[in-house]
Formats: sequence, C-alpha cells, structure tokens
Amino acid sequence: MCYNSTYPNIATVMNSYFQLKSILLREERKKTMKTVGIIRKVDELGRVVLPVEMRRTLGIEERDPLEISMEGEMVILRKVQSNCAFCGGHKDLLEFNNKWVCCECRKEIMALDD
Ligand SMILES: [Zn+2]
Repeated sequence: MCYNSTYPNIATVMNSYFQLKSILLREERKKTMKTVGIIRKVDELGRVVLPVEMRRTLGIEERDPLEISMEGEMVILRKVQSNCAFCGGHKDLLEFNNKWVCCECRKEIMALDD
C-alpha cells in the first residue's frame, strides 16, 4: 500500500470534521432558539421578566440564583444549583456572607434567639 501525499492526513480530516460539527450545532441551536423566542423589553433598571412557562419548565423559583454570562451577542442565564450551608437543601435560599441559607434553617436560627 502506498500513501499519496495529496491525501490529507487524519488530523486534518478530524479537525475539519469538528469544525463542521461545531458550525452545524451552532446553526441548529439558533433555529431552536428562534422557535421558542419570546420578546420582552428591558426596563429602566435593566430588568427583564422571565416568562412563567420557561421558569416552570426549568424549575426556576422566586429568589433562585441565576448565573449571567455572555456568548457573542447572547446573554445566557443559567440556574445555579446552590445548597444551604447548613442542611444542603435547595428551597428558598437567601445569601448571607457569601453562604446560602434555606428557609427552614433561617427559621431554626431565628428560634435560637428565643
Ligand atoms: Zn438549610
């Protein structure tokens, strides 16, 4: 078997494959995002209301922490899975001194004062 130097090597082929796959995934994501696109206006303080259907679908509740990041011209909101510093719970977390504290633990802490 002889190798012709005009054939691209496997690394070049794989690199092209991954570049193409990346482009196709990006285009697919754009299509998906357009089909669920809901237009909301930003208010004077920079706030946007997340549609209730999206919050329900993603399990985002009042006071849940969201990570805000950018990718090109997109603003990406991601639900942060934080835990209560005391019990590890996720329900109704509030931040205190860079630690999350759940509703139940806050009640117990308040009761310590009695
Ligand atoms: Zn807790």
